[in-house]
Amino acid sequence: MTARDLLFGDLWDYAPAPESTNHIELKAQYGHFINGQFVEEGQPFETINPATEETLAQIHSADEAMVDRAVKAARAALEGPWGSMPASERAKYIFRIARLIQERARELAVIESMDGGKPIRESRDVDIPLVAAHFFYYAGWADKLEFAFPGARPRPVGVAGQIIPWNFPLLMAAWKIAPALACGNTIVIKPAETTPLTAMKLAEIIQDAGLPPGVVNIVNGAGATGAAIVDHPGTDKIAFTGSTEVGKIIQRSLAGTGKRLTLELGGKGANIIFDDAPLDQAIEGIVNGIFFNQGHVCCAGSRLLVQESIHDEVVRRLKHRMSTLRVGDPLDKNTDIGAINSREQLNKITELVQAGETEGATCFQPECNLPGKGFFFRPTVFTGVTQAHRIAQEEIFGPVLSVLTFRTPAEAIAKANNSEYGLSAGIWTDKGSKLFKVAGAIRAGVIWGNTYNKFDPSSPFGGYKESGFGREGGLHGLLPYLEVE
Ligand code: ADP
Repeated sequence: MTARDLLFGDLWDYAPAPESTNHIELKAQYGHFINGQFVEEGQPFETINPATEETLAQIHSADEAMVDRAVKAARAALEGPWGSMPASERAKYIFRIARLIQERARELAVIESMDGGKPIRESRDVDIPLVAAHFFYYAGWADKLEFAFPGARPRPVGVAGQIIPWNFPLLMAAWKIAPALACGNTIVIKPAETTPLTAMKLAEIIQDAGLPPGVVNIVNGAGATGAAIVDHPGTDKIAFTGSTEVGKIIQRSLAGTGKRLTLELGGKGANIIFDDAPLDQAIEGIVNGIFFNQGHVCCAGSRLLVQESIHDEVVRRLKHRMSTLRVGDPLDKNTDIGAINSREQLNKITELVQAGETEGATCFQPECNLPGKGFFFRPTVFTGVTQAHRIAQEEIFGPVLSVLTFRTPAEAIAKANNSEYGLSAGIWTDKGSKLFKVAGAIRAGVIWGNTYNKFDPSSPFGGYKESGFGREGGLHGLLPYLEVE
């Protein structure tokens, strides 16, 4: 037994450090935010806390008529004050939204963790700061579009229909809303049905910022509400982030309509560790790559490609590191891995992990107690995975890592590219030249060098192949919301 392996049981453990929720005000029910007003109409459904299974609020679902109201409000705002407003004035509203988000950051972080299950450490230190940063960044572009695209006479596309997923609820709303506003569009956006609450808080912020009515409209509901936005003849552009399956449905229904479309879909990112990599940093990068946000990350590094000569050492260190991860209450500041977002997602993860075992890969999970209630899953790593295994090909969207090996850079590149997806990759090596050479050969929209899951509003994000098309973030992220000549 080495000193590192000394076991103290729970005698040497963190005391609970729960973030307080007594400053949170949630209404019993939420509807929609249309034309600057809250509207509580439509079939109700519940949004729950996935860590406790308790109901947080009743949410109303928007039907086609409600979506029609929202689209008409957006059109009127486009043809009204918003459309004729000087860009420098438009920027002020976006700055104001960013400032109000910062002021209410703590409240937003707590609600994000309660509704979605992510650890408060992440919602507080990653999600919400990035939300504010995104609004600040695009506020800066609003009156500089002609410098971004010189001579191209950039104009707004019109009414943008936006549909977002549940893994980064407020951040995905920011990624959609901020560039659309900067470019002068108006918006109808739908949050995911399991995580509507921070979007409703954003509606309050938008109201407080004094944004003209109808510029941002938020409708709640599930797939049928999303489809009503997609199919409404009054939306000029659709921006969707979610599953590849739904992305394909949307692309089919838009075929021939002339509407603009951007899709940010699934991924099966390769995180490649060369034998000259700084191993301690790489282990942290692997952990961050797959266990950040319970692995509910489209760009997660869910396929670990390790050079064969260091495989055993990497796996040994990784297992040791995994055994230090704390799974549990998302509101506890010590928690590393929070709750799985829904029972449905937990079932999907469980099913794919069973498939991994049935297909012959070796599963490791550290010992850890899971809370009695709520949806939780232990951090999991599979070794002995082959490229044919489902766990090497399908997106699990959970805290599950598949380890494969390679011997040469060429083999690493071939394996990284052996995926129907092409969203992200990570490369760990001491040699800059190797890093750039390999990055150039991998077909993925975002490639991190000696780091993973780093986000910045100025950096474009998006995919190839079945991960979708179009870019969000940076100057590239303006283009989907502009007509240019
Ligand atoms: P996930 O795997 O993230 O749940 P989905 O693609 O099912 O991915 O959900 C992403 C978003 O798409 C959610 O807001 C969901 O309500 C919405 N959605 C689901 N089905 C459709 C559809 N047919 N048309 C438009 N939006 C949809």
